[in-house]
Amino acid sequence: MKPYATVFFSAQILSELAGARRAEVLWKWVIAFVIVTGILAVFNAFFYQRKETLIDDTWGRKEKLYCEKMFSMDYADIDKQETHDLRAQIAQNENWASWGFGRIPYYYESCVTGVLGVISGCVLITGLFTSSVPEKAGSLTVLNSPLFLLLSAIVLIGVSALAGRLYTKSESYWMNMTETATFGNRVFSYFGFLSFQRERHTDIRMYEQQNIIHSYLNGENPFGADSEIGRLSRGSMGVYAGLGVCISTLITGYMYIFTCLKAWGGAFDVGSITQYVGAATALAGNIYALLEVYGGMKVNTEFTEKIFTFLDIPNAMYQGSLTTEKRSDRKYEVEFRNVSFKYPASENWALKNVSMKFRIGKRLAIVGENGSGKTTFIKLLCRLYDPQEGQILLNGIDIRKYNYRDYMGIFSVVFQDFQLISQPLGNNVAGSMTYDAEKVTKALNDAGFGDRLESMPEGLHTQLYKDFTENGVEISGGEAQKIAIARALYKDAPFIILDEPTAALDPIAEAEIYSKFNEIVTDKTAVFISHRLSSCRFCDEIAVFHEGKIVQQGTHEDLLLDESGKYYELWHAQAQYYSEEAARVLLTPAS
Ligand code: ADP
Repeated sequence: MKPYATVFFSAQILSELAGARRAEVLWKWVIAFVIVTGILAVFNAFFYQRKETLIDDTWGRKEKLYCEKMFSMDYADIDKQETHDLRAQIAQNENWASWGFGRIPYYYESCVTGVLGVISGCVLITGLFTSSVPEKAGSLTVLNSPLFLLLSAIVLIGVSALAGRLYTKSESYWMNMTETATFGNRVFSYFGFLSFQRERHTDIRMYEQQNIIHSYLNGENPFGADSEIGRLSRGSMGVYAGLGVCISTLITGYMYIFTCLKAWGGAFDVGSITQYVGAATALAGNIYALLEVYGGMKVNTEFTEKIFTFLDIPNAMYQGSLTTEKRSDRKYEVEFRNVSFKYPASENWALKNVSMKFRIGKRLAIVGENGSGKTTFIKLLCRLYDPQEGQILLNGIDIRKYNYRDYMGIFSVVFQDFQLISQPLGNNVAGSMTYDAEKVTKALNDAGFGDRLESMPEGLHTQLYKDFTENGVEISGGEAQKIAIARALYKDAPFIILDEPTAALDPIAEAEIYSKFNEIVTDKTAVFISHRLSSCRFCDEIAVFHEGKIVQQGTHEDLLLDESGKYYELWHAQAQYYSEEAARVLLTPAS
């Protein structure tokens, strides 16, 4: 609105100066001008502030929306590469030029100001067509014809539309550039940030990985002057954008001629020329801005479509409503019945025809070579995936019929690739911002973390990792694993499942944990997955997996009796390795 106020008041002051030159009238216009533009400036500042806050808020809400989508999605979709590619593309489009939701508030703002501008411009320019050239001006009275109103509208709208079209044409090149630009962003966001990741620097130094990083960062820059985008900007894309701006000046030219001729004929005074030409130019600017928004929005739909594809990923997994009864005897019996499963993008069966019943309160070990299906078996048990064939039953009922959160509540799993977060130790164990400190401490002690906890001056409030504070503590892999075990114990679910629970522990810590396991696990049903067979001897039952099938099941002693069995083979292969290793160490003379 401010430019229009300036145009209007300048016109009034100029008219007075060129006309009666009354000092008291001039003063009034000047004072009114200062007051009105002052008030408009205050409004401007207020709305600017408000707009910026709203835009920041939109940005935050958008990120929250994406997070919630990721948290609520079926695990099978989270695991898909396509989902990650889609999410990465959305992020890259936003980082590249705010394509997507980020642009919408700006378009909205431009729409509102554009429409207000057009209305104000129309009001200010009305006099141009209502004031008539007097009869004495002779042939110039032709300018009073209503056809000039039509001609002016055609010039104003037609030229602005053409300019807007040229702008859209220039912008549309970006649409064809999405792949190049997305790849460019991918390269930058991966290689550009590698140097910030502290854990990478040992390998970077050891293997001079910076050579690879440099070759990407110094190589062809997809946004550089010599890139395809750079060439287009200098070429056709730039030409279209330039032509758009050039053509818009035709409006100013036409308006000057028409307004000056009318003033020459005596339709109005010199001040009004400023008002009408100013209003027409601003009007054309606003029409152009509206068309620019239209063009931009058209291009942006390509990018928002990707966002909606992501947000509309359906939850295909059947969600039952049965509750897992809160049994005080914690007697939950799980059975796999002829279960077969292949991963979504895979041709091969990861599990084939697996049948097994968990004996309540017993310790079950699952052993087998890498890739034999042990982890997949646990993922199906926790219903991260549904099997394609067969059924998994909880107390005789298909697990799909239970409420999912409720069902998850009966398992505590320490996955091989468990993750802790940059939060205080206590929050990590409890998985919550509030917790029972005594229970957390007990869980940590049971998991063998007691001594380390005592050495931490801030105890449970000790921040893990340094992402948020310099006082954060970096922990070793073994310590992290103990915290992860404590977290599983704190959850106190009827099933405790440990996938390679001691892989990162030293032999002493491992022995300590195993010696306490019966005490720690109490009456829970426990499942241990391991390829270190010696760790599983204490279990009541051992299931041997091979190529996605259970090939043997029984106690350690029973299984060893079958000399042609897989367990016998694995046991002896490992025993031989251990004894050879021990012999080598013993026979090597000390230097
Ligand atoms: P284990 O835990 O015994 O090492 P897994 O259960 O992890 O074995 O893997 C069983 C088989 O499934 C392997 O052939 C593995 O390559 C395959 N597999 C595991 N995870 C995936 C996945 N997310 N997508 C496709 N195949 C997978």
